[in-house]
Amino acid sequence: MVSGSDTLTPSRESSDDLALHPLNVLRIQAVKISKNAVASIEYTLTDDGGTVIDTSDGGTPLAYIHGIGNLIPGLEKELEGKAAGDELKVHLAPTDGYGERDDGMVQSVSRDQMPEGVDIEVGMQLQAESDQGMHVVTVISVQDDEIQLDANHPLAGVPLNFDVKVVEVRDATAEELEHGHVHGADGHEDHEDHDH
Ligand code: ZN
Repeated sequence: MVSGSDTLTPSRESSDDLALHPLNVLRIQAVKISKNAVASIEYTLTDDGGTVIDTSDGGTPLAYIHGIGNLIPGLEKELEGKAAGDELKVHLAPTDGYGERDDGMVQSVSRDQMPEGVDIEVGMQLQAESDQGMHVVTVISVQDDEIQLDANHPLAGVPLNFDVKVVEVRDATAEELEHGHVHGADGHEDHEDHDH
């Protein structure tokens, strides 16, 4: 037993340390979600009609680095300060989610601009390259020679309802911060698809 030490740093990781090294503990609290924390969340996203748009149910929780734009801003704001075990319901207007729809982002192209050998159908998503970079576009109508593409996010203009449970909160590693995404089994990114 170490005694007389005034240089011990309380560990946030393990309660064993507290037992080994008696400290003048004033307050114990869970690690809270703050900038550069890695949070793992279970979530279900529904529209206002109750239709499930996306869910982690049946899969692994979503792990993300807080405060660097990994999640939509409205959801990050509500998760700030939460800890493992916390549950929350978040209703987001489109402006706090994927933005309002912009009809100016719908445009017509001719069929010969479509990739060869692809059967173009309404609802299909394609990659379009413009002078502003790559965009995912959705086919919204197909006429003889004219195809309408919508570059709005599919959830633009949709109010979002998140049911969230915080599963785990920890500090991000230096490498995770450098890469801007979570590593490890709970990471959303496939760890093998890029070099380290
Ligand atoms: Zn990485």
